[in-house]
Amino acid sequence: MYSYNWDAETGGIILNSSPLNFSKEPRPVYYKELDILGFDQYWNYEKNDAYPYMWAEANNYYYRGKLVAKTKGGSYYTRPELIVLEEPELHNAPLRYIDIPAMVEKNRGIIEKLVQETIKKIYNTYVEYKERIDVFYVAFSGGKDSVVALSLVSRALPHNMFKVLFGDTGMEFPDTYKEMKSIQELCQREGIDFLRAKSKLDVDNSWNLFGPPAVTLRWCCSVHKTSPQVMLLQELTGNQGFTGMAFTGIRGDESVSRSEYDSVNYGEKHRGQYSCHPILEWNSAELYAYIYQEKLILNESYKKGNSRAGCLVCPMSSGKHEFLKAQCYPDQVHFLLDKIKATSGKSSFTSIEMDKFVDDGNWKTRKTGRELNFGQDKHVVETDKGKTIITVQHLNERWKEWAKTIGEFICLSDSDYTIDFREKAYSVHLEQKNGNTIITFPNCGTAKDDIKFVSLFRSVIIKSIYCVNCGVCAANCSTGCIDMSQGLKISDKCVHCHQCHNIHEHCLRYNSIRNKVGGEKKMKAFYFFIY
Ligand code: SF4
Ligand code: SF4
Ligand code: SF4
Repeated sequence: MYSYNWDAETGGIILNSSPLNFSKEPRPVYYKELDILGFDQYWNYEKNDAYPYMWAEANNYYYRGKLVAKTKGGSYYTRPELIVLEEPELHNAPLRYIDIPAMVEKNRGIIEKLVQETIKKIYNTYVEYKERIDVFYVAFSGGKDSVVALSLVSRALPHNMFKVLFGDTGMEFPDTYKEMKSIQELCQREGIDFLRAKSKLDVDNSWNLFGPPAVTLRWCCSVHKTSPQVMLLQELTGNQGFTGMAFTGIRGDESVSRSEYDSVNYGEKHRGQYSCHPILEWNSAELYAYIYQEKLILNESYKKGNSRAGCLVCPMSSGKHEFLKAQCYPDQVHFLLDKIKATSGKSSFTSIEMDKFVDDGNWKTRKTGRELNFGQDKHVVETDKGKTIITVQHLNERWKEWAKTIGEFICLSDSDYTIDFREKAYSVHLEQKNGNTIITFPNCGTAKDDIKFVSLFRSVIIKSIYCVNCGVCAANCSTGCIDMSQGLKISDKCVHCHQCHNIHEHCLRYNSIRNKVGGEKKMKAFYFFIY
């Protein structure tokens, strides 16, 4: 929110009351980061992380207001280039620490003003929404932003009025788990409920089943982040259709898309859920000034140069950040990088070529299962003169459960069924041919409802073939009708809202491993569709 200047006296930052439109997101630099990047070859400093030595804005390093070095590039296997511009201290004298206590005192007035405004905002939001919210919680990620959000919410609200929810993706930094433990203990002392949501699928398994995530295939956010949290809150509130409000640590200065958020949103990330971003307008200078002032617990990963505490390997991260993660947490990072290599369809690559493939980030551009060595298409949908035929390899019995989500499902014989949909009983006929199951719809034509029915049935088939009980569909059901605890069971209470079909390509796993991109091909007398 406020501008800052470098303060030569303390080596810190000093905030002033003029508004800042764009923050370069300064962050403190400790000796561990200098060591990892190789600055110890150039500079003389004591190895003690009680206080930082300098600040970094992106790849630029500032010592007492002077730009002293830059880094360029970097990736998992490639060290960033160091460009040392100026000696921080003359004659290689030891670096001086930033005088954090003095910096805190200089900024106390302006930080207090900002804190009081933010606390008021949190309290007013709580009062305004409390009648329509079942559960308020701080969405805790282990990062600096969520630590600040938690501190402010706990100052604004009675401690029994909200919970802290840690979304554990299973891909967190080891330092984040340490941080989580400290926060959990703090919550215990303060009388705040601390919850931890984690997918039943472990990461080892999910990466094998879905293939590694990619920029346009971020199934992991739903499988490992969102759905476990929704399911935990459903269980906690005893209400599948609960309405929650998450207090987040989202800040506008983090990205262009986030800068367009309102401070309270409805359904922005999760359908039917509110989120409140109390520190949306804070920049990182204010954030660190507050963290130091309140002596908040800071995730150790920041002292090692990580600008964000996120997932160990993420298709959205790049550059120096990747190098730092690989240096700080080599075993955990290489475990995931090895999975990228083991599942890649680049079978002719030598190990050097494969390392380059990973290092250049080409794995992040994957669009389908064709780039994997196990991409699958097990069904074909054809339309001939308005009649749809679905051919499935190895059809399993799960389709009969998923079919109940469309409408009332009746089994007439081993090969004939009816499903009610929009006041019509649709016939479904199954036939075995050459080891495949051929599915036809005798009383289905080209009417609007017929087309919708076939589309839902196609979704049923996709789910029955590809579902690995990742939990996303169950979390999407606001009436709690999908039980995946032992196989799959759709309850009789299903209201046929079809929300569980409203998922990318009907199933996130299918979307990630299907071989075909979709489209339409003319084949002799009929059209051939691949979904
Ligand atoms: S790896 Fe990236 S895309 Fe996947 S859950 Fe983590 S942050 Fe989201
Ligand atoms: S059908 Fe739903 S629950 Fe099953 S794997 Fe796909 S997205 Fe997950
Ligand atoms: S989401 Fe809707 S259609 Fe799907 S199981 Fe739940 S109630 Fe039934």
